[in-house]
Amino acid sequence: MTIVLGEAPARIRAELVVLDERFAGVAGDEYVERLYDGGRWLEGPAYVPAWRSLIFSDIPNDRLLRWDEVSGQTSVFRQPSGFVNGNTIDGLGRLVSCSQGERQVIRTEYDGSRVVLASHLDGLRLNSPNDVVVRRDGSVWFTDPPYGITSSYEGNGGEQELDGCYVYRIDPDGGLTVVADDFRRPNGLAFSLDETELYVADTHGSHIRRFEVDGAKLTGGEVFAPCTAGRFDGIRVDEAGRVWAATHEGVHCFAPDGTLIGKLILPDVVSNLTFGGPRGNRLFVTATTSVWSWHLTARGARPPYAANA
Ligand code: MG
Repeated sequence: MTIVLGEAPARIRAELVVLDERFAGVAGDEYVERLYDGGRWLEGPAYVPAWRSLIFSDIPNDRLLRWDEVSGQTSVFRQPSGFVNGNTIDGLGRLVSCSQGERQVIRTEYDGSRVVLASHLDGLRLNSPNDVVVRRDGSVWFTDPPYGITSSYEGNGGEQELDGCYVYRIDPDGGLTVVADDFRRPNGLAFSLDETELYVADTHGSHIRRFEVDGAKLTGGEVFAPCTAGRFDGIRVDEAGRVWAATHEGVHCFAPDGTLIGKLILPDVVSNLTFGGPRGNRLFVTATTSVWSWHLTARGARPPYAANA
């Protein structure tokens, strides 16, 4: 039985702020559509081409939801979810998720079983993995702020065992290493088109930093862009190398040189975003209780499964 949740998509005229001509051509539709409303704090959108679906997290309600692109309906994919936050799809099409409640990064296998990719560093539990990306070489990169343990709202609460909030890399053979240890609240992350750079949002500093990827290590880490509307959360890169970021007033778009070139204003605080749809030109945005979509002329950076095809 399909449980239909939050049917009745609505659309509103896209409220755009064009600050630079590099943003002027990205708009496709004049409207943004509200695909779902009824979550408590939505996060972690990941588009799954094989399922024609968007998976996303409703963290305080401890569930993963699935919006079906064909039917337009949203149903429960997994509940309890372990207070999953960030999700992504790896190079083989598998769902990789950050469980704030279990304090683990997990992968859902083809048979539906789940394997733990990371849970401890040197015998100490992770804080509460927040967001995750997979590189084409199969390595998994994630951030570990404490939002799932500071209270029982977005997790199970608990003690912080590690000294800090780090950015991690999981080697394809399973080894876990710290790749950045100077963040207060690392959050969203995204690779550049050629994966030689990694952008990481620092919610505490309210900026995005840019690192050079040197094999399994990061160097650099300068501030790429400050947030001018609250705090950054999730980020994504499109095929032109533009960086799209979740803010408290909507989605901000930056040129590769760090210039804020445009905004999509939305009525609620935005947590995260992803590109999807059959052509990769549909922007999905999780914003507090709702999921929005906006058709663009631009497409997202090619995901790893396409690159491997
Ligand atoms: Mg986040």
